[in-house]
Amino acid sequence: MKAIKNVKIYDYDDYIENGYVIYKENIIEIGKMEHFKFDGQVIDGKGKLILPGLVNGHTHIYSTLFRGLSLNFKPKTFKDILEMLWWKFDKELTEDEIYYSSLVYGIESLKNGVTTLIDHHASGEIENSLKTIKKAIVDELKMRIILAFETSDRFDIEKCINENNLFLKEKNEFFTGMFGMHASMSLSDESLKKISKNISDFPIHVHVAESDEDELDSINKHSKSIIKRFDDFKLINKNSILAHCVHINKDESEILKEKDVFIALNPSSNLNNNVGIFNYELLKDLKIIVGTDGLGSNVAKEMYNLNLMIKKSIDSPVGISNEELIAFINNSYELVNRMLNIKIGKIRKNYKADFILVDYNNPTPMNKENAFNHVFYGVFENLRPEKVFINGKEVLSNYKVNKQEEIFKKSEEVAKKLFLKFGDD
Ligand SMILES: [Zn+2]
Repeated sequence: MKAIKNVKIYDYDDYIENGYVIYKENIIEIGKMEHFKFDGQVIDGKGKLILPGLVNGHTHIYSTLFRGLSLNFKPKTFKDILEMLWWKFDKELTEDEIYYSSLVYGIESLKNGVTTLIDHHASGEIENSLKTIKKAIVDELKMRIILAFETSDRFDIEKCINENNLFLKEKNEFFTGMFGMHASMSLSDESLKKISKNISDFPIHVHVAESDEDELDSINKHSKSIIKRFDDFKLINKNSILAHCVHINKDESEILKEKDVFIALNPSSNLNNNVGIFNYELLKDLKIIVGTDGLGSNVAKEMYNLNLMIKKSIDSPVGISNEELIAFINNSYELVNRMLNIKIGKIRKNYKADFILVDYNNPTPMNKENAFNHVFYGVFENLRPEKVFINGKEVLSNYKVNKQEEIFKKSEEVAKKLFLKFGDD
């Protein structure tokens, strides 16, 4: 059992100005300093703030080693970006590259206060690829992860299905799987039928209408919208993650309202690929979570950018309420808790000790009513936790992960070999 004292505590619900947390794997007790009685190892949290660890609701760890690679390509559309860049790149990934992508991405995520990843993976090497990610993220870095392999007609469908199946049935409090599908436009009816036969009521993790090409492809080839198409194959199960939904229509939004699913929004990635801006009116009654889509690992920044993009979407300088923004964060905890059968997301007795310790001296008065504004505008802008705890274990100390220099050095060597495959030396 350990304790952190003299610390500000905020969990998007309660706020304690000067408090303590006693924890093991779970939080055992929290309170105000005047009630602190503890005989054991104590960390002084003076000048710091405890927040629950963040969840990245949709990402692609495999894209990590792309950084700095120069590919000669001139995309005109989103599909060009996939075909000329990502599908060329991920095809070359084998065990070593997947493992080091995962370690590097995991470390960078911890440095950004992320303790749980929801990953959507693709690689030329399909078999055991999810196990390789799990080895790095869970066994090595002690983080939590929900895995999926993006089944697509460009791969051997049977192999994709098998790879997903491995993790659908396996789970503990650190990892489990969802059934990964790339997108409607890369899956034939025959493939969807096979998937449908396989997944029973397991959730899917899929890109939906990220660019208008995906939506138009479904309408032109199958005479129905993507959501209608997936629903006809009975794929939209409880807890599914539908990423993007930039170009869905009103009917699709109505179908989704009847389902218990999560919409992962990735605003920076949408701007980066120039695919357009979602219609918030169609999404606001759905459970929104936030992801980085592999474009970095800073979910806090992505929350910030999402707020800006929503203002643009609803054409308002005021935007949405703090309660709505907080709901996005809480939705991500709800999903993880359901999937892993744990309780994270609150600094409260019996919740998992998954939290971050951040330097924060408030320049203006901070209280329960305005704590979210301090966090959103003062902390999220440049989130760099001094310590990160997962399941009570200190996995990042003094702003660093153990052996991180060694890991990055090795990653550089692995990437150098990978770059040679693209004729880049
Ligand atoms: Zn994505």
